[in-house]
Amino acid sequence: MDRLTVSQLSAGLRSGKFSSEELTRQSLARIEAANPSLNAFITVTGEEALTAARAADRKLASGNAGPLTGIPLAHKDIFCTAGTLTTCGSRMLANFVSPYDATVVSKLADAGVVLVGKTNMDEFAMGSSNETSYFGPVRNPWEVSRSPGGSSGGSAAAVAAGLVPAATGTDTGGSIRQPAAFTGITGFKPTYGRVSRYGMVAFASSLDQAGTLTITAEDAALLMEAMAGFDARDSTSADQAVPPYSKMLDESLAGKTIGVPREYFDDGLDPGCERAIRDALDVFSDLGAKITEVELPHLALSVPTYYIVAPAECSSNLSRYDGIRFGYRHPDARDIGELYTRTRQEGFGAEVKRRIMTGTYVLSAGYYDAYYLQAQKVRRLIRDELMRCFEDVDIVAGPTTPTPAFGLGEKIDDPVQMYLNDIYTIAVNLAGTPGISIPCGFSGTLPVGLQLIGPHFGEATLLNFAHRYQQQTDWHTKTPPPVSNDGAGE
Ligand code: GLN
Repeated sequence: MDRLTVSQLSAGLRSGKFSSEELTRQSLARIEAANPSLNAFITVTGEEALTAARAADRKLASGNAGPLTGIPLAHKDIFCTAGTLTTCGSRMLANFVSPYDATVVSKLADAGVVLVGKTNMDEFAMGSSNETSYFGPVRNPWEVSRSPGGSSGGSAAAVAAGLVPAATGTDTGGSIRQPAAFTGITGFKPTYGRVSRYGMVAFASSLDQAGTLTITAEDAALLMEAMAGFDARDSTSADQAVPPYSKMLDESLAGKTIGVPREYFDDGLDPGCERAIRDALDVFSDLGAKITEVELPHLALSVPTYYIVAPAECSSNLSRYDGIRFGYRHPDARDIGELYTRTRQEGFGAEVKRRIMTGTYVLSAGYYDAYYLQAQKVRRLIRDELMRCFEDVDIVAGPTTPTPAFGLGEKIDDPVQMYLNDIYTIAVNLAGTPGISIPCGFSGTLPVGLQLIGPHFGEATLLNFAHRYQQQTDWHTKTPPPVSNDGAGE
């Protein structure tokens, strides 16, 4: 069994070609072999997984199985899972066991998936390279000296290397789409509010959204049918019916329109990426879609805007980590002040502290109007510009990232360079629209991601475009070289 998709595995399970227990054992064996090199998992839930797999096999035998019954899956370690560690990539939560499941976790469990483990990530999802994790960087299976992207880098590396057929992720500024692009897989970020944030450790609450890392858009559709939907425990969750995404994938693209923002092809774009993106647009033309140019004149402001809004929200969200109720606590403080200070000093890493300080500053009385309020206005401007595009086109397309995967260590000491890596993904979060990254070729030996952006609740349209493209091309079937068990680069 090579690197099969969720839909292929589902067919195999139903026809009795293999059992969920066999699949799960295989996934666990692959994790054990590859994790010393990739560092994609923080926790592996072997025993629990086998118990769940046997239950899935009984369900399959009884004929009551759904499309996800018995499929091994990994959750980004930002989703609370009752009874297992949820670290969020931080020392602060390195010992934290949640008393409840996130809605995403319980919904997928109800659909029958087998949880094999929790994946590594940038600390509190702050990062674009996975290097801010307290548990060490994840390595890109295409080249272990390179970053798999972040913050959902563990999930991306695990799917790309065939350790699991699918994983969850979260995307606040690009953390699903960018790692998907860097590892040659499909990363889907739904509309803000489409998937419940309940039990998802909060980073920037007006931007955070859960989504999927899979091999194909078809698999993203299958997972989304289980994950999406209204949740009374998340006040921003959308009270809208979930369409049968997997049944809407085959619609013809004839006569549909794709807008390509001129600003996505600036000097910063790697020529190899540009070539792959232009070729992908030609494939859409062959499928009958019309390609036109659109404008996002304030795109360049999306990075500075995001790096005011996101830190502001994070400084508020992360104030709960005080060493009192849960998580890390400095062991021998003399008074309450020292307990708070030392706990936060020792529990958080450098990037998280940088964000908390920036956020506190831009929200402070003297600077609120100059920074935070101004950023909110620009956010509105960027959102309006993107919405204006959808008056003329069905979707917007362009690169996911300016370059293919960069080297570990290359940008970690230069936050601005690191932040600029998100230039093409952030506007989508500021606007709250859905976006998907699909593999569309290579720059040298490294995968390139094509980003498709849709209007609010345009999930079905995006998945339809992505699926038609994947039926026409085989980039999503390209696999990285086998990862050896030698702890490369450690
Ligand atoms: N790279 C961005 C950041 O560091 C986005 C992270 C994310 O989407 N979680 O904030």
